[in-house]
Amino acid sequence: MIKISQKNLNPIINGLKPSATLAINEKSRQLAGEGKKIYRLGFGQSPFPVPESVVEALKENAHQKDYLPVKGLWSLREMVADYKGRKKGLDRTAEDVLIGPGSKELLFLLQLVFYGDLLIPKPSWVSYAPQAKIVGRQVHWISTRQENDWRLKAEELEVFCVTDPDRPRLLILNYPSNPSGTTYEEKELIELAKVARKYRLVLLSDEIYGELHHKGQHVSMAHFYPEGTIVSGGLSKWCGAGGWRLGTFTFPTSLGWLRDALAVAASETFTATSAPIQYAAVRAFEGGKEIETYLADSRRVLATIVKGLSEKLVAHHISHPKPQGAFYLFPNFEHYRENLAQRGILTSMDLCNQLLLDSGVALLPASDFGFPPEVLAARLSYVDFDGGKSLKLIRENQNDESFLDAIAPQMLEGIGRMTDWLK
Ligand code: PLP
Repeated sequence: MIKISQKNLNPIINGLKPSATLAINEKSRQLAGEGKKIYRLGFGQSPFPVPESVVEALKENAHQKDYLPVKGLWSLREMVADYKGRKKGLDRTAEDVLIGPGSKELLFLLQLVFYGDLLIPKPSWVSYAPQAKIVGRQVHWISTRQENDWRLKAEELEVFCVTDPDRPRLLILNYPSNPSGTTYEEKELIELAKVARKYRLVLLSDEIYGELHHKGQHVSMAHFYPEGTIVSGGLSKWCGAGGWRLGTFTFPTSLGWLRDALAVAASETFTATSAPIQYAAVRAFEGGKEIETYLADSRRVLATIVKGLSEKLVAHHISHPKPQGAFYLFPNFEHYRENLAQRGILTSMDLCNQLLLDSGVALLPASDFGFPPEVLAARLSYVDFDGGKSLKLIRENQNDESFLDAIAPQMLEGIGRMTDWLK
C-alpha cells in the first residue's frame, strides 16, 4: 500500500503552530481534565449572553435555508451602514458593506487579494501575522514604546514608510486593543491618518472592540482617513456572539475594487455567511433601547472589574497600560525579572508555562503578540465570570467592591495565586 507522505504538506503551513490563543485553551483544558484548578485568564471570549431579542430573531429565522448573496443579505448590509451612520457619524451605504463568517475570515481574504506588505504595530493580535505568512506576504512589525502604552505613533510609522515610499502596504490598527486594552486618542488618529495618506496605505481599522470602549467613546479611524480605511467589526465581541461567526467590513467607495475582489474570493471559498445568523444580525444592528442598555451595562461591568484587578496588580508592582476598552490587560512583570531569572525563567513563554503548571493561572505570553521573547509581559483576559449574572447585579448599583467579590471571585483568586507565585 502506498503511504501518503506528510512531506507533501505545504511547508508554509508546516511552519505554523495552531493559533496561540487556542493552544493555551487546549493546555488549560487538559490540566483541568487532570483535576487541576485552572484560572482562565488566557482566552478572550465575551462573557455576556447574546441580547434576548437577537436570540429570538435567530429562532424566528431558523427556517431560512437558502444561500444568500456572497456580499451578504441586503437588509443586513443596509442596517450595518445605517448603524455606522447613526452611531459613528460615518457616511456609508449598503454597497460599501461586506458580510463574512467572522471578521477573521474577511481579514484573511483581504490579505489574500491585496498584493502588498503587512504592517502591524508591536504588540498586535495573534492572527494577523500568521495569515500574512499563509498567503506569502511580508510582515513588518513596527516597534512602539512602553511610555506610549505600546500605541503606534505617527513618527514611528513615518520612519518605517519613508524608506520605500511607493511600496504597497496594508496597515492594521486595532483599538481598543487586543492585547493591551488601550485605545487611541483622536489627535493620535489624526496624525496617523496624515502618514497613511502620504504613503497611500490601505488601512484596516480593526474596531471589533469599538462598542466595548469602557466609556462608550470609541471614534473610528474612518473619520480621519476616509478614503483609505476599511473598518472591521461584527457580532463577536459587543454582542457576545463569537460562535455565531458574523463579521463585517465597511469600505470607502474609493476601495470598491478591493471590496469586489474580496467578494470574488469569498464566492470561491465560503460562498455566503449562514442565513439565519444574518437575519438575526439585522436585529442586532438595528439597535434600540434594549441594545443600548445592554451595551451600557456591559461597559460598566468591564470597567468595574478591570479597575479592581488593575489596583491589585499595581499593589504588587505589576505595571500595565491603562485599560480603556475590550477585556484585556497587559501586565508587565519586569519588577520580578531577577527573582524569575533565579528560577530559570527568562522569557514570557517560560513565565506563562511555569505559571500555568505551578499555580493554574493561564495567561498568553507577550511573544505571541510580536515581542521578543525576553520581554516579560503577558495578556490577561478578564472574562472568567458569569456575564448574565453580572448584567443583573450591575443594575442593582452595588458598590464596586461587593460587585467584584460577587462576580469575580475566581479571577481575584487567580491574581492572588499569581502574585504569590511571583514572590
Ligand atoms: N480582531 C481582534 C483584535 C480579535 O481579538 C478577534 C477575535 O478574537 C478578531 C479580530 C476576530 O473576530 P471574529 O472573527 O470573531 O469576528
